[in-house]
Amino acid sequence: MQQSLERHTPMMQQYLRIKAQYPDMLVFYRMGDFYELFYSDAERAARLLDITLTRRGESAGEPIKMAGVPHHAVEQYLARLVKLGESAAICEQIGDPNASRGPVERQVTRVVTPGTLTDAALLEDKRDNILLAILPQRGLLGLAWLSLSSGRFAVMETATRDLATELERLAPAEILLPEGAAIAGLEAYPAALKRLPPWQFDPDGATRALTQQFETHDLSGFGAASLTAAVGAAGALLEYARATQGTAIEHVRSLVVEQERLYLRIDPATRRNLELTETIRGEPAPTLFSLLDSCATTMGSRLLRHTLHPPLRDRAALAARLNAVSLLGGNGDGAVPCENIRQLLKNCADVERITARVALRSARPRDLTALRETLRALPEFAPALAGLPAARLTELAAALAPADEITTLLSAAIKAEPAAVLREGNVIADGYDEELDELRAIESNCGDFLMQLESRERERSGIANLKVEYNRVHGFYIEVSRAQAEKVPEDYRRRQTLKNAERFITPELKSFEDKALSARERALAREKHLYDDLLDRLASHIARLQTIAAALAELDVLSAFAERATALDYCRPEFAEEPLIDIEGGRHAVVEKQVDNFIANDACLSEKRQMLIVTGPNMGGKSTFMRQVALIALLAHCGSFVPARRARLGPIDAVFTRIGAADDLAGGRSTFMVEMTEAAYILHHATRESLVLMDEIGRGTSTFDGLALAWAIARHLIEKNGSLALFATHYFEMTRLAEDYRQVINVHLDAVEHKDHIVFLHSVEEGPASQSYGLQVAQLAGVPAAVIRSARKRLAELEEHGMTPQAQRDLFASNPGEASGVVAMSDHPALGLLSDLKPDELSPKEALEVLYRLKGLAGD
Ligand code: ADP
Repeated sequence: MQQSLERHTPMMQQYLRIKAQYPDMLVFYRMGDFYELFYSDAERAARLLDITLTRRGESAGEPIKMAGVPHHAVEQYLARLVKLGESAAICEQIGDPNASRGPVERQVTRVVTPGTLTDAALLEDKRDNILLAILPQRGLLGLAWLSLSSGRFAVMETATRDLATELERLAPAEILLPEGAAIAGLEAYPAALKRLPPWQFDPDGATRALTQQFETHDLSGFGAASLTAAVGAAGALLEYARATQGTAIEHVRSLVVEQERLYLRIDPATRRNLELTETIRGEPAPTLFSLLDSCATTMGSRLLRHTLHPPLRDRAALAARLNAVSLLGGNGDGAVPCENIRQLLKNCADVERITARVALRSARPRDLTALRETLRALPEFAPALAGLPAARLTELAAALAPADEITTLLSAAIKAEPAAVLREGNVIADGYDEELDELRAIESNCGDFLMQLESRERERSGIANLKVEYNRVHGFYIEVSRAQAEKVPEDYRRRQTLKNAERFITPELKSFEDKALSARERALAREKHLYDDLLDRLASHIARLQTIAAALAELDVLSAFAERATALDYCRPEFAEEPLIDIEGGRHAVVEKQVDNFIANDACLSEKRQMLIVTGPNMGGKSTFMRQVALIALLAHCGSFVPARRARLGPIDAVFTRIGAADDLAGGRSTFMVEMTEAAYILHHATRESLVLMDEIGRGTSTFDGLALAWAIARHLIEKNGSLALFATHYFEMTRLAEDYRQVINVHLDAVEHKDHIVFLHSVEEGPASQSYGLQVAQLAGVPAAVIRSARKRLAELEEHGMTPQAQRDLFASNPGEASGVVAMSDHPALGLLSDLKPDELSPKEALEVLYRLKGLAGD
């Protein structure tokens, strides 16, 4: 390319030099009112964006392939590209188009990548956009992630096998990796992958970059000094983020070290199964998040998402939240303090994202007025929070103390209702800057001058309908109707001819035009300068603005918890020291909203009741019951009230679930394989403090295999893991575990038959279920009556021949190996031969022959 560069036109030379710096990105090259893409970029963009691919002119003897988008619509095209995982470099004209010869000077002014978005138009309101860097080192993974639109920057080190959990939780839009690093499974993850040179991950260089960014001596204040893998990842990430913005990222001011032991772990399968933020089908509602998100601000909604996942284990922090929620919810006498506060919050802007845009100098005028409104409302928070004696609320009130300096600055600098974009001026307030005021005065005096001029010219020319006017293309002119055009004075020069009118200019009007236009241009330039300066001055308050944003978000989440607790009749959970989950009158937060009459249920798990075997008919409510126990435990660890009459919880380190039969066909795993993979994960990870939910384990294979596995898995959980567990099963045989282990308790859900239909009671009772009601459920599901009749007949036959559940149970329990042998034997040809045999009718020779045939069959 380099040798052939001279053969290109000067403009294409410029383009190719810029493109060489961004080989894997689409380069958007500004040409007048368009952004153009060339060559292979043009082809790719045409395909991805469905825009026209054209050929224009020639350079180096070849036609130039190009595709373009209008500059005013560029954001929506960028939004589509980043959704597809693409990145783009935006190259602007920075030189004066009328100045020297040769192409206008151009420069890449920003790079848009999926993980570094900050533009309001490209971001989702209620979700953070995450950039993640991963550095594998000595069997560990260093992870660093950043939400550039908030400035939140965090690191952790984790075992390689837990990567899936973290990916699921963080849901990064873009992942940075050292070149050559291989991390299993990552390629399949739906995020843009970028490889960077390994030296960018060097921990020493990273430490320097990070300490420079945070203006600290070292990283020990963050607790990160010894986490070399995490620090290496953080360094690479910081440099990458900086480079994309083409400016300092001043709002990234500290690093949080996330330690796994502080959080309640939720693996990817569990997160999906419990439908925390997405339904099993991938929809946003109805989920726990959609139910709880009554937040008044988008900042609150985003924080709520983080609060749900991962939940916290720190009891002190949880108690502080619960105290706040409790006070915000009122004392039941009607006055609910959170309503007042939520009204205030509803008028608050997204201070978090606006602050990030201030730091990146990309805040728009309306961002600043929205910020100003919010700051003006801050003094109202203290009185609203006064009289609520919770430590956390007092801290939040302090964080929301009036920010007078910033408010005053914004009030003085920005008009009450500024234009949406700076380009057209009308943003900076009158009285803020003398020079601007003067330039504006010239502009506004125009009106008077033009009216005077008009009446003078009418008199001079004797043309009564003469008009002085202005338009953007032609500037100022005097318009005279065609019929009168003959009468114009000597010094009129023709500017434009229309169908019914002629337009003229006079020397006086021309010189006025020059003055007015230059005043306007100078005013615009002055406004631009003042605006940039204002952003600089605001940037010195970033720390304060971030504190305000964080406090608003937290107050919003706590108020939403309080509002939900009141509206949905939740109770405050209590915590205990010993392993325990004791729930009275618990409900499933989401299901209770979907059925008319939800039946509340108790659930008690403890060292004495370590495993509950849950039996009962399909559709009886087993899954709902198990999930509600997990959701209540999880909600309590978010600092929320819970859907129960009373709930007491011991320490919990993780929730594991093995629920439902989900085929992972894309991943090439059968239902049974998925089931066993999840079970294996649980058996390896669950501890005495874990809550384990197993639903219908062993269903994906033959009855005896499945039962044997379920049995062995349950025993392992009881004996080795020692976890608190709920074990739903359709194998009645499992209920016998209660005979072997005192800490295993049977509970069941029941149904009653009413003539030809079945009613589920949805109430959890002690003891094993007595009947499975499979046929009744099938009938309910619409299986044709003839099929049900035929099944009923077959069931009766089976029971008559002794294959009752009890018989199966006995068979299996006495000796599983033999039992499966018997089943295999019943089909054996030797048996057929024997049963046809009539010994009394055989001669000794025939008997011997049969014996040899039997021997032969046995050999088979
Ligand atoms: P199972 O796991 O036993 O097959 P589910 O838990 O899936 O049953 O429950 C089936 C349906 O029964 C749910 O979709 C819900 O509509 C209803 N249901 C479950 N539990 C309750 C309850 N406690 N009160 C009222 N309805 C319930």
